[in-house]
This record gives sequence, C-alpha cells and structure tokens, in this order.
Amino acid sequence: MPAMSVIDEVLAANEIYSRTHELRKLTPRPERKLAVLTCMDTRLSIRTLGLKTGDAHVIRNAGGIVTDDTLRSLVVSHYLLGTEEIMVINHTDCGLMHTSEQDLRTRIQNRTGKAPVTPAFFYAFQNIEENVRHQLQKLRTHPWIPESVAVRASSTTSPVGVSAKSKTPDSTEVLYLGVAAG
Ligand code: ZN
Repeated sequence: MPAMSVIDEVLAANEIYSRTHELRKLTPRPERKLAVLTCMDTRLSIRTLGLKTGDAHVIRNAGGIVTDDTLRSLVVSHYLLGTEEIMVINHTDCGLMHTSEQDLRTRIQNRTGKAPVTPAFFYAFQNIEENVRHQLQKLRTHPWIPESVAVRASSTTSPVGVSAKSKTPDSTEVLYLGVAAG
C-alpha cells in the first residue's frame, strides 16, 4: 500500500469531524459582518484575531494583497453576504519580503525552463507599512467598495499583544497588531 499523503490524512480527519461538527447552525453570512484579507502564512489564524468560526470571511493569498480576485471576494462578501468592515493584514517575516519580482521570476524560470505570462505579478514587497497602505488605497479607490464600509489596514509587527497605533497621512487609522508571527 502506498504511503498516505497529507491529503489522505486530512480526508480521514474530516470524516471523523463530519460526524460530530456543531457548526451546522451557522449561515454563509458572517455573524460579525467582518471580512479579513490576510496572508496565507501558517502562523496566522482566526484565533490570532480572537475570532470564532462563523464570525468573519477570511480571504487569504500570498502576502495579503488586493488583487482582482480578492476584490471579487470582497464585493461578494459585502453585497451578497452582508459584511460591513474590511480589514487588511500583512505580517512580519512574510515570504514575499524575502524576494523581489525579478528574483522570484528568474528563480522559477531557471527551475522550469519556461517563462509563462501569468502570474503577471507576485507582489513582492520590502516595507510592510507601505504595502498595507497600498492595499488600503486600492480598496478605497475602488468604486464598488462603498464609503460606508469601514476599511482598515493592519500589519503585525510584534510577537505578542497590540503594540501601537498610528495615523497614516490620509488620517486613516493603521493598527499594528501583535501576533505570534515570527
Ligand atoms: Zn506572508
């Protein structure tokens, strides 16, 4: 018999979970009307934010970047499923901070010997604060994200606890959330 892959292990765990899970009462609408855009980093979870299953939409990609597809999810989240606040979180020690667009592209092309046109960008970044502000700006200027939706950007900078708050030049609050992320 071939060795179990991690997917097999997960399927077996889900089989057990499905017999007992108590979340059937939840609806697709987030109870706390919050959408969080954050990185796929394994160290970030809803527990990091004191959230429970059912509280919020959590949209994740490499970096926590506002892309066309992120916008698609956020628009569905608000208009179809009733969320009223959007939070963008980037974090220290992000994989995308350890590379550059050209570096990553070159590395992959060297490994594969191929140069596809997509993805057009990896959204590598060096400065967290600058990066979260940029994501915030993309949301703020999008005509389908209404002004009534509270949009905040956050970056995680310290190992534990909430460390600081500051005002960005456009006086939008930036929270520096502390989480166990490196
Ligand atoms: Zn990351």
